[in-house]
Amino acid sequence: MNFTVAIVGRPNVGKSTLFNRIVGKRISIVDDKPGVTRDRIYALVEWKGKKFTIVDTGGIEPGGTDLMTTQVRRQVEFAIESANLIIFLMDSRDGLLPADEEVANILRKSRKPIIAVVNKVDDYSMKTGLYEFYRLGLGEPVFISALHGSNVGDLLDRIVEFI
Ligand code: GDP
Ligand code: MG
Repeated sequence: MNFTVAIVGRPNVGKSTLFNRIVGKRISIVDDKPGVTRDRIYALVEWKGKKFTIVDTGGIEPGGTDLMTTQVRRQVEFAIESANLIIFLMDSRDGLLPADEEVANILRKSRKPIIAVVNKVDDYSMKTGLYEFYRLGLGEPVFISALHGSNVGDLLDRIVEFI
């Protein structure tokens, strides 16, 4: 089995956009409203001569706070069970939410390798006020824009260091 990298995070943080950016094709369905990613999607990726399988754990994401929490928890459980490395994606525009801290606690206890990634940092001026993400205790976060592709290469470098 390939080295498997799972992307987890709340609905709408940009999991499918990041997945597509990394894979380079529009395979998973991206939409403004939560609830449009229908399948857990896998793709084989090669970066700097190293291969890994990337998984968009979005799955079905119904609206509603309780269901959302359940969904994210299920993604996280799946990732802890089956991935070698977990990308924990958050949204710079929302800031660090209690739901993120909850996921971070579960991930930390799992002792799986984690990369904390803060998405939607579309321009450099947005980086101010993002220090709170260092508080998560998951190491140095990677700040990216999945939409524009900025820093996604750095993220891929960080991923293949684990292989
Ligand atoms: P998912 O629910 O976590 O899979 O999130 P999606 O990939 O479906 O993205 C949700 C919304 O966020 C879509 O409207 C995306 O275009 C938008 N989005 C994703 N990445 C970025 C980004 O880097 N910058 C901005 N501004 N929007 C983004
Ligand atoms: Mg999605």
